[in-house]
Amino acid sequence: MTDIQNIYSILLARSYQETLFSSLTGQRKREGKEIRVDCPLCSSEGNFSYSTDKPLWHCWSCNAGGDWLEYMQKVEGMDFQRALQELALVAGVELSPHSQESYRAYTRRADILEEAQELFKNELESQIKNDGAVMKYLADRGYSFQEALDMELGAYTSRKALQEYLKGKGYTEKEIKDSGLLSSGFGEDYQLAFLWRDASGRAIGLVGRALLSDEELKEKGLSKYKYSYGMEKDEGLIGFSSARGSEQIILLEGVLDALYLNHKG
Ligand SMILES: [Zn+2]
Repeated sequence: MTDIQNIYSILLARSYQETLFSSLTGQRKREGKEIRVDCPLCSSEGNFSYSTDKPLWHCWSCNAGGDWLEYMQKVEGMDFQRALQELALVAGVELSPHSQESYRAYTRRADILEEAQELFKNELESQIKNDGAVMKYLADRGYSFQEALDMELGAYTSRKALQEYLKGKGYTEKEIKDSGLLSSGFGEDYQLAFLWRDASGRAIGLVGRALLSDEELKEKGLSKYKYSYGMEKDEGLIGFSSARGSEQIILLEGVLDALYLNHKG
């Protein structure tokens, strides 16, 4: 776990967003897991929303947004180091000397994972028309396409297609390779794809679910799930960001059912 992941999860548990955004004016209208206030950047009324379960904010008027560190930089005018030190102090976390580097790597990894999942979601959508294997698997388990979308599931059907797609988005060969998204098995035995998120809601890895039956898996000596290389599973738990405390249920129920539970809850 990086320092910032640690800091964010400690501060979210303490509802630190209420302190961080306390100086903002407006009616503080609650919409689901977000609170609306006036935007300090463009002054538009009620268009700035901040999350109550993720360290994130966004203005629907001027389109500015980011995480808490970016808020402290853009709105409060701090530089990165000072903002990080301030959050670390409040959270009681001692910073390692490589905090800034690891923060950059962490956000960059999240970006490439989100991009990849966009492709997988589009692919799943196209599978409705051509009766693709992933959509068929989900339908057999009783999931509708809308439920699959709400759970942010996707279909990973080709490593080559992913590689081309990410190149088109400006990622270098090295970044794509280092992301762990091209590990063997992905796009072949493991085609049902979704993101693994940490406690702050940021993507930290990709999970692939095999479409094979338990017997077929046993025969082939494969596990049900494959995780992108380099991902530390204990960093995040699906559903944890929006259902704190339910991690044991999630572990017991299995990853797919947990996603469903989380979405229903
Ligand atoms: Zn704004």
